[in-house]
Amino acid sequence: MSADSVFYLETGRESELFAKAWAARLPLMVKGPTGCGKTRFVEYMAAKLGRKLITVACNEDTTATDLLGRHLLIGGETRWTDGPVTRAVREGAILYLDEVAEARADAIVVIHSLTDHRRELFLDRTGETLHAPPEFMLVVSFNPGYQRSMRELKPSTRQRFIGLGFSYPAEDLEIRIITGETGLEDKQARSLVSIAKKVRALTELSLLESVSTRLLIDAAKLIQAGLPPRYAATVAIAEPLTDDPDALAAIRQVIELTL
Ligand code: ADP
Repeated sequence: MSADSVFYLETGRESELFAKAWAARLPLMVKGPTGCGKTRFVEYMAAKLGRKLITVACNEDTTATDLLGRHLLIGGETRWTDGPVTRAVREGAILYLDEVAEARADAIVVIHSLTDHRRELFLDRTGETLHAPPEFMLVVSFNPGYQRSMRELKPSTRQRFIGLGFSYPAEDLEIRIITGETGLEDKQARSLVSIAKKVRALTELSLLESVSTRLLIDAAKLIQAGLPPRYAATVAIAEPLTDDPDALAAIRQVIELTL
């Protein structure tokens, strides 16, 4: 996939930082709320650097075995099958562990040796030690707001990465992202961003996370598909954010006053 085929609008100096981290063989942690472009950015950079991207969506069931690989019974024979981390190291790919803090502690520990000067992976089941080629890069994502109520990433893990903070894009950029991604006309994209801005300012709603760019894009897609804008914004923005009747009413009010 070429970089031209992945739509990504730069919000700061992130692509320069990523390219330099890759060249310097430094692992990278992208931090920020959900739906603000972290995954898209990593996809874009992998395409730009011409590297294969291997993504693992981590969850509380993700174990070291899931990441490294296991012996499987295939046609009556037991055969070793590489997991995604092992494959990424062998292939010199960019490995993206999405929501790494969700993975179990034993899974997080196996990647430690890939993050320091050793850049090695030890497969205890096969007794192999793999050395990551120069093109290999480990990228993890982490959602600080969400983690406050869920799992934390240990300092001993965090400090192995350089950190790139993401947040909601500036107004004009977010409008361009919506129009670029969905083809929605500028004026309506502007209104969606205005809704986001107002709801993001309503801290009294105590939302775990506020309106993401992803939600705005979903609303834009529904509008493009012919749904009335207020309805599209209600189902794409208000409903996914909260079940609290007062908070829902407040967000709906913002939508009705803006669209
Ligand atoms: P995250 O990984 O942070 O949860 P994503 O990367 O999946 O979020 O972003 C959600 C959506 O928002 C993407 O699918 C894309 O449509 C859009 N998006 C966010 N930021 C950008 C950006 N800077 N350029 C292009 N699209 C973006």
